[in-house]
Amino acid sequence: KEELNIIQGALELRTKTVEDVLTPLTDCFMLASDAVLDFGTMSEVMQSGYTRIPVYENERENIVDILFVKDLAFVDPDDCTPLKTITQFYRHPMHCVFNDTKLDAMLEEFKKGKSHLAIVQRVNNEGEGDPFYEVMGIVTLEDVIEEIIKSE
Ligand code: ATP
Ligand code: ATP
Repeated sequence: KEELNIIQGALELRTKTVEDVLTPLTDCFMLASDAVLDFGTMSEVMQSGYTRIPVYENERENIVDILFVKDLAFVDPDDCTPLKTITQFYRHPMHCVFNDTKLDAMLEEFKKGKSHLAIVQRVNNEGEGDPFYEVMGIVTLEDVIEEIIKSE
């Protein structure tokens, strides 16, 4: 029964973590911070279909901003506006969470906060060197809802 699946899904929010539902960094559609908002870039953004686009500096692990597609409403591709001009104008806050954050806590965060996307990081203490933060991917409200309503 669908109702049972939903109840089951809701109960599992207490045990499952954001790591279980995230979109891995390798699958994320992102832009480099030095990108130029020309026709090509803006077409790619529109074709991606995503509303929120992480912006990275130099390497994909280094996410420095989030671009919202609606930020592009007044951008003319002929102006070849640097992406930085737009991100520095809107300055959407970035929200980071750790990989072991439970989905019920994540849902509360999303309900409180303005953004429905969070960057998932973990502490990497494998290997010789000092532990460091490592970005694993992104999680959105949709990923949490999906976990509740998915039917098997
Ligand atoms: P909205 O539905 O609010 O317009 P959206 O369609 O861009 O936003 P979500 O509905 O939040 O995205 O998420 C749908 C799925 O896409 C989720 O699995 C989410 O992790 C993933 N996702 C969101 N943004 C990106 C992105 N920039 N690159 C890759 N995957 C993304
Ligand atoms: P996003 O969060 O993906 O940027 P959004 O904020 O435009 O999208 P939703 O998050 O889908 O919109 O919806 C937020 C609330 O605003 C919902 O209650 C929805 O019904 C309402 N809403 C969405 N679009 C409109 C609209 N054009 N006019 C009035 N209410 C709207």
